[in-house]
Amino acid sequence: MPVVKADLGACQGYANCVVGASDYFDIDDDGLVVLLRVDVPEDDRKRVEEAARSCPVSALMVVDE
Ligand code: SF4
Repeated sequence: MPVVKADLGACQGYANCVVGASDYFDIDDDGLVVLLRVDVPEDDRKRVEEAARSCPVSALMVVDE
């Protein structure tokens, strides 16, 4: 199953990802993305990939494991 990964060193807290998929992404008190879940069922893949692509600093990836 695809999984979503976050590069916390790159994340700048823009929160575009939260807007795109609030069931997968949140922002913590330090302004860094929090993954609420990592497994991405195929039904969610397009939506989560679009949310990942909306990240201005490319901190998110959906990869096949
Ligand atoms: S859109 Fe990118 S920079 Fe913004 S919170 Fe999400 S992962 Fe971080």
